[in-house]
Formats: sequence, structure tokens, C-alpha cells
Amino acid sequence: MKVLVVEDEAKTGDYLRQGLSEAGFVVDLARDGQDGLHLALTEAYDLVILDVMLPGLDGWQVLAGIRRAGRDVPVLFLTARDEVDDRVKGLELGADDYLVKPFAFSEFLARVRTQLRRGGKAKEAERLQAADLELDLMRRRVTRSGRRIELTAKEFSLLELLLRRQSEVLPRSLIASQVWDMNFDSDTNVIEVAIRRLRAKVDDGFEVKLIRTVRGMGYVLEAGE
Ligand code: CA
Repeated sequence: MKVLVVEDEAKTGDYLRQGLSEAGFVVDLARDGQDGLHLALTEAYDLVILDVMLPGLDGWQVLAGIRRAGRDVPVLFLTARDEVDDRVKGLELGADDYLVKPFAFSEFLARVRTQLRRGGKAKEAERLQAADLELDLMRRRVTRSGRRIELTAKEFSLLELLLRRQSEVLPRSLIASQVWDMNFDSDTNVIEVAIRRLRAKVDDGFEVKLIRTVRGMGYVLEAGE
């Protein structure tokens, strides 16, 4: 799942990005309101985390812009303690929840998961499946033929994407934008390497191979006939 964090305090922003990445999310970080709004309107996010006090556009203006464009992505507001009264304004403008700084990361992560569930993403499918391969989104567990497969956070996101769009050939550019963040350097062979590792874990030792390379086009996960 892909999350946008809009936060101008470098320390908080880096902390949230790192924590969310380790929890298995794909994270884009914007350092001001303008960049945040631009990203929110041009990329597809499952959740936007918005600081209130931002240079350029403030959090409310960013939220208003997102809603004006008809985007109903869940928005979690971060506010400083002395701005708590302002939360009413944020909620009126269409924020889904708010969290007062400073907060424990565990509480933050719990709020993030709640918003994602409310946003319907988790409701739509908690389990993705192809043949005997199963991915459990809530428990973050993957099995094939009932046998547990251990994946890194990136491999999990990659497999989630391949399963969500199974039978579709996914070009590298799409994989990069969905599984890596916006600073991804597309000249590297990072995707190739990640696919190779994922395939070794998912397909090695099984007669039916699920993940295929389509030369010059990309990658596809297919359950076959
Ligand atoms: Ca701020």
C-alpha cells in the first residue's frame, strides 16, 4: 500500500518514512504543501498523512485541494499540541482522523491501519490468491500450498502488486512507481534483482511457475489454465 507523508520537519518526516517503510508501506515524502498537493493529485495513494503547519500551502489548504479535486483518499492529520482546537476545522474540511504530536509510532501505525480499513482497501480483499499461492494482507503472511514463505517488506509489496493485477503484464515503470518511492533510480537493476529473489522464494521447488518475465515488456503473475 502506498502512503503520502506531507511534513516539513525533517526529523519527523524521516522518522515517519522510515517507520512506515519498515512496516511494509511504500512511502512518498513531501516537505511542503505545494509538493504534497501536487503528489496527492498526480499519484494514487491509499492514505495521505498531513501535517497542519506547512510552508507554502498549509495542511488545510492541501486537504481542501484534495477534496476539491474529488479525491476521497483517507487523510490523517498531524497537529501540534497547541493547535488541537483547530482539529475541528480539519475534520469539517474532510480529514478522517487526527493525531497530536508528539505521538508513539505504535499509536500512529494503529491509526494508519484503521484509516486503511475504513478507506475500504482492506475490506475489498484481505487475502489475495493465485492457484495455491496466498497472501494475507492483514497478517502480512504469504503461503504456497500451505507452506509459509518469508518475504522482505519490498518483496511483499511487489508480490501484492503482482497479485492485485494478475495476468496483466506490468512494465517496470509501473512497478517502480507503486513499489518503490519517488526517488527511485530507474537506471538500476533493482527491480530485476527483486523479481529474481521473489521468484526464487515463490516458484522454486514448484512445478507450476507463477511469475514470468515478458521480454522487453515487464513481469506478469499468472495462475495458468
Ligand atoms: Ca510543520
